[in-house]
Amino acid sequence: MDSTRALATEAVHAGRDDLARQGLHAPPIDLSTTYPSYDSRGEAVRIDAFAATGAEPEGPPVYGRLGNPTVARFETALARLEGTESAVAFASGMAALTAVLLVRASAGLRHVVAVRPLYGCSDHLLTAGLLGTEVTWTDPAGIADALRPDTGLVLVETPANPTLAEVDLRAVAHSCGSVPLLADNTFATPVLQRPAEQGARLVLHSATKYLGGHGDVMAGVVACDEDFAGQLRRIRFATGGILHPLAGYLLLRGLATLPVRVRAASANAAELAHRLTTDPRVTRVHYPRIGGAMIAFETVGDPHEVIAGVRLITPAVSLGSVDTLIQHPASISHRVVDAEDRRGAGVSDRLLRLSVGLEDVEDLWADLDQALGEGTRPERGAGNCATSHSAPAPANRSATPTALRSS
Ligand SMILES: *Cc1c(COP(=O)(O)O)cnc(C)c1O
Repeated sequence: MDSTRALATEAVHAGRDDLARQGLHAPPIDLSTTYPSYDSRGEAVRIDAFAATGAEPEGPPVYGRLGNPTVARFETALARLEGTESAVAFASGMAALTAVLLVRASAGLRHVVAVRPLYGCSDHLLTAGLLGTEVTWTDPAGIADALRPDTGLVLVETPANPTLAEVDLRAVAHSCGSVPLLADNTFATPVLQRPAEQGARLVLHSATKYLGGHGDVMAGVVACDEDFAGQLRRIRFATGGILHPLAGYLLLRGLATLPVRVRAASANAAELAHRLTTDPRVTRVHYPRIGGAMIAFETVGDPHEVIAGVRLITPAVSLGSVDTLIQHPASISHRVVDAEDRRGAGVSDRLLRLSVGLEDVEDLWADLDQALGEGTRPERGAGNCATSHSAPAPANRSATPTALRSS
């Protein structure tokens, strides 16, 4: 491992270090479910070792649910990008979160402290207590007081889905004391933020989003120290939420372009956020201080009409793809959250969430502009809609409604 390499270099080389020596260029896809061994005494020793620590067995693989070489390449690469010792991949982001909760619950630490908003299903998993956990919801300042002797995990998202609210990870990590902090880094990606450097012990991704990046693979991954990774592998082995090798291949391929995609999409998003901020048809724009390719905004008119009106942009849940997606969180991504809790977390019924892709920004603006409708469109020349800006949007204006002008 060469810690002096830049992120962009790691993105295309990590997990591939052995390829040239093997006479390969593209990583091989290993679809084997099982692996032959004529030494069953040796296998017993290796299985005992895995059961004890969860460390990846030395030598050839054993069985597909215990580990897969193609998936391992993705795990190695993601750990390198997040700056952690290890990473463990799962069938989806929710399978990854489930494994983390099971690791802690199996140690008798069933209490979780969490900050809203979280992704709708993460909120639901905790609120419903489906895994036998109990949750205390608090704000970042309340974390220290919410901790109990049986608290096994503190959970935050930053920027959060869907409001893009940000938390100060360093301060939160300090409040956690010895309780592991899990930061869901799905929105920021390691290109914009590396939570482990700020004290998060666990960094979770829905790899379905930016890591895959093309809307064609579902996956989750937890980047962490090797001790916790071993516990996650044992849970994964026992519960079976493994990642398919083809998905592992696609994710490794996705990582190669992650820095380029995130920077290009973020430049588009900063420009669109800037235009929305000064548009009288928009009452609020949430765009994170750290940037990124996600925007949340509230409209004067009916948000459902905006969803119905897009032509180039795809009206669909999920995010982080090369193409631009828009959705209405109160109807879809956060529908499973109780309406009162949802609104309390800042997810208003007017909120729209935009995942900005790699299209030309003028084409995206043209589509948003027509979808926002005629109602309160600025008079010709009155707004900045026709102007092209290259400067990033100003820092977080999430609490500042723009002035409403009547048409
Ligand atoms: C989508 C998402 C998840 C869940 O991931 P899946 O891959 O859909 O299971 C978790 N956290 C965040 C922030 C997400 O956006």
